[in-house]
Amino acid sequence: MGIENPQLPLNVLLTKKCNYRCPFCIEDTKRESNGTLEWISLAKTVNQMIDTNLVNTILLLGGEPLYYPHIVQFIESLNVKPIITTNGYRFAKDQGFVEEFARIASKVESINISLSHYSEEKRRELSGTGRSFSNAELKDSLRKIKKNTSLRINTLLIRNYIDSSEEIKKMTDLCKFLGVKTLRVRELIGKDTSITKYVKERIIRFNANSYVHFPPEEYVNEDNEVQVLFDTLLTSLPGAKDGDGKYYQRVLFEDGMIGYSWDREGDGVFDSSELFCQPQVKTKLLL
Ligand code: SF4
Repeated sequence: MGIENPQLPLNVLLTKKCNYRCPFCIEDTKRESNGTLEWISLAKTVNQMIDTNLVNTILLLGGEPLYYPHIVQFIESLNVKPIITTNGYRFAKDQGFVEEFARIASKVESINISLSHYSEEKRRELSGTGRSFSNAELKDSLRKIKKNTSLRINTLLIRNYIDSSEEIKKMTDLCKFLGVKTLRVRELIGKDTSITKYVKERIIRFNANSYVHFPPEEYVNEDNEVQVLFDTLLTSLPGAKDGDGKYYQRVLFEDGMIGYSWDREGDGVFDSSELFCQPQVKTKLLL
C-alpha cells in the first residue's frame, strides 16, 4: 500500500480516556488507556518531528485531551502551537484549571470545542454519563481564555437533536452567546459495527432528505457574527490518499507509537492550510 504524502499534520492521540460516553464516538473510550509515555517524552518526540520538518501542525486529540496529565506543561513545551479538540467540560467545571490554562492560551493555535447541542439537558443526554455544564459556565471560562487564542464550536447533525437549518441557527445563537465566531457542522460518521446502527438511525446528510440544504455559498448569520462551516463525508479531506485510494492520517498514539491510521477518517484534514477556519465546503443555509 503506497503512501503518497509524507507531509501530514500530526494527530496526537493523548489519551483514550474520556469523561463522556457519546454514543457516536469513534474512539474506544471505555477501554483502559494503555498510554505509557509521559509528557516529557511525548513532547520530545513531537518536537523532533517538528524539527525535522515531518510535520508542521499538531492536533491534540483524545479521548478528552484536557485530562491528559500535565497537559499545560506539555503544551508549553511544544515548538509549534497545537490545535486542541475538547468536549469543553473541564473548561466549564474546573476554574483552577482555567486559570492555569489561560496563562498559556497564547501558546495554542486554536481550540475546537465539541458541543452536541445548544441545550445543557440535550448535551447531558448525549454525553452518555449524565454529565453536562451550563452555557453560562462555559462562557465565563472562555472569556478568560479567548483573548489569547482562537475558538471554534464543532457540532454534529444528529436526528432529533441538531437536524435542521433552524437547529443550526440556534447553534449560531449559542456561539454568539459564547463569543465564538466560527461554527463547524459535520455529519455523523461510523467507524465500526457497534455504532453503525446508532449512526444509521440518526444520520442526516446536508444534501439529502431535505433536512439541510446545500447551496454553494458561504453562510454567515444575519449579524455577520458567526461563520458556519460545513463538513461532509463526501467533501471532507481526512488526511491523504494512499496508493489504493484509501484515506489515512499520521497519528502519534498514546502508547508512543507513531504510525499511519486508516481508521480515523473523521477528524483529519488534508494539509495545514485546511486546518483552521478553512471550510471543506462553504454553504448557505436555507432558513
Ligand atoms: S467527548 Fe469526544 S472522545 Fe469523549 S466520548 Fe464524546 S466523542 Fe468520544
